[in-house]
Amino acid sequence: MGRLFGTFGVRGIANEKITPEFALKVGMAFGTMLKKEGKKKPLVVVGRDTRVSGEMLKDALISGLLSVGCDVTDVGIAPTPAIQWATDHFKADGGAVITASHNPPEYNGIKLLEPNGMGLKKEREAVVEDIFFNEGFDRARWDEIGEVREENIVKPYIEAIKRRVDVEAIKKRRPFVVVDPSNGAGSLTLPYLLRELGCKVVSVNAHPDGHFPARNPEPTEENLWELMRIVKALGADFGVAQDGDADRAVFIDENGRFIQGDKTFALVADTVLREKGGGLLVTTVATSNLLDDIAKRNNAKVMRTKVGDLIVARALIEHNGTIGGEENGGVIFPDFVLGRDGAMTTAKIAEIFAKSGKKFSELIDELPKYYQFKTKRRVEGDRKAVVAKVAELAKARRYKMNTTDGAKIIFDDGWVLVRASGTEPIIRVFSEAKSEEKASEYLNLGLELLEEALRA
Ligand code: MG
Repeated sequence: MGRLFGTFGVRGIANEKITPEFALKVGMAFGTMLKKEGKKKPLVVVGRDTRVSGEMLKDALISGLLSVGCDVTDVGIAPTPAIQWATDHFKADGGAVITASHNPPEYNGIKLLEPNGMGLKKEREAVVEDIFFNEGFDRARWDEIGEVREENIVKPYIEAIKRRVDVEAIKKRRPFVVVDPSNGAGSLTLPYLLRELGCKVVSVNAHPDGHFPARNPEPTEENLWELMRIVKALGADFGVAQDGDADRAVFIDENGRFIQGDKTFALVADTVLREKGGGLLVTTVATSNLLDDIAKRNNAKVMRTKVGDLIVARALIEHNGTIGGEENGGVIFPDFVLGRDGAMTTAKIAEIFAKSGKKFSELIDELPKYYQFKTKRRVEGDRKAVVAKVAELAKARRYKMNTTDGAKIIFDDGWVLVRASGTEPIIRVFSEAKSEEKASEYLNLGLELLEEALRA
């Protein structure tokens, strides 16, 4: 049996791999599964990001759902977390998001959602795949075809976020924020949310445009050089950038410095864990030890999973976690949306900034200091086997290991992680330590083991 889904949904080039015919069949398969589970007329919430192919694919997916007898609430263009929130809010039986997240504009994809808004469970993904490949679609009789209702969720989603932060405190300080939603779905939400929270807002790249004319939608340091210069030149308090579907938020301090996602995640986690009096923090093996320090000072526990936002979300549900996140600027507030939420993260950061009375750079520099190095090496062929060989070599040298995802060698003052990318022909090597020398030493060890594994 073929496979459709990767770590979270399916992605590819629009009109090559991700065609309307494909979206139609995914809609039919998903709807057929929901009906088989017993509901006579299941309700599915469907939305998309701003990509050029979005409307075409969304309409095809909706047709598929209708044809097997599902009703659809079409929420149009909205951030992925807003669509996740709406799936839960409308008490739907499932959700679907047409998005390729941070990928370049020619890509698109489909993410399917559970009734609570989380990405579809593995077992149910397998059922959808089964129906898709067998074409076992349960077509509805002509008078049982579904209906579409359109809903605008931007306002209620913004209101729901506003209820979760101290708006008065933010209004009092009136932070000056430069927003860059990358012409993606966040264009419709983040500038307005921040204005309603009482911020002074300047937005750039904030007209919805699926060509992504201004920059690559992945919010990395290389892609945000313009925002970094604008924040500094305007004398803003901080800048915030999103990816195409607005589940991630990445920050720039008042000096125009790019802030690693682990650090803003640590700021948010510190506040949330303090407010809740401890709990469980869930993150991945690739995130800084900074999160262990933050958990410790708040009497919280840390769980480290494989890399992937859906894996973190699943662990949060399963273990009743308090806060989750990744090093790439994705924070999950499990009592709000069961996935990364860039707007909620930004609102919380604005609140933390306003209440502290400090500069953004001061908040960051007060965090425990770690040095990190990240590099990658192109590897053709079986990358997982190469990483397994790295783990074997490291074990032979009697290093302390964690093999949850890739090969992570753990030292008293840091670590190095060698991990195969799930989507590109590369192997990544990350290192971290309390000093720059040690971080560099650990990176070199990782690279050395990788070269040895490649020769083996
Ligand atoms: Mg994304």
